[in-house]
Amino acid sequence: MSDCLFCKIVAKEIPAEVVYESGRTLAFRDLNPQAPTHVLVIPKDHHADAAALADAGDDLAGEVLKSAQEVATIDGVSEDGYRIVFNTGAAAGQTVFHVHAHVLGGRGLTWPPG
Ligand code: 5GP
Ligand code: ZN
Repeated sequence: MSDCLFCKIVAKEIPAEVVYESGRTLAFRDLNPQAPTHVLVIPKDHHADAAALADAGDDLAGEVLKSAQEVATIDGVSEDGYRIVFNTGAAAGQTVFHVHAHVLGGRGLTWPPG
């Protein structure tokens, strides 16, 4: 998708601070972090949201979750705990329609998030 922000990050047309990369995923720090660890994990191929990712097959959704776990380990938050969030749809706050898992950690995370 030529007009997709995160496709442009995958294509290195827009810079990002990459934390981790697997064969089919890329993880980079959020531009506007909401916690000490705030990393976005995306499939390199364009899928609009979590529902499309779930339908993508070939365990792509599993690879995104595995990459989120790798990010938590790299940032040292896997033992204390971290949160994985997929905002899905505009009403849930999704603003970039290339599916991304927010990996949040490094501070106390309240629940429910509000
Ligand atoms: P959403 O609201 O769609 O769940 O999350 C989109 C996230 O992308 C936001 O947390 C926002 O800060 C982040 N973001 C928007 N533009 C950029 C960008 O150009 N680079 C990076 N690294 N993050 C971005
Ligand atoms: Zn895209």
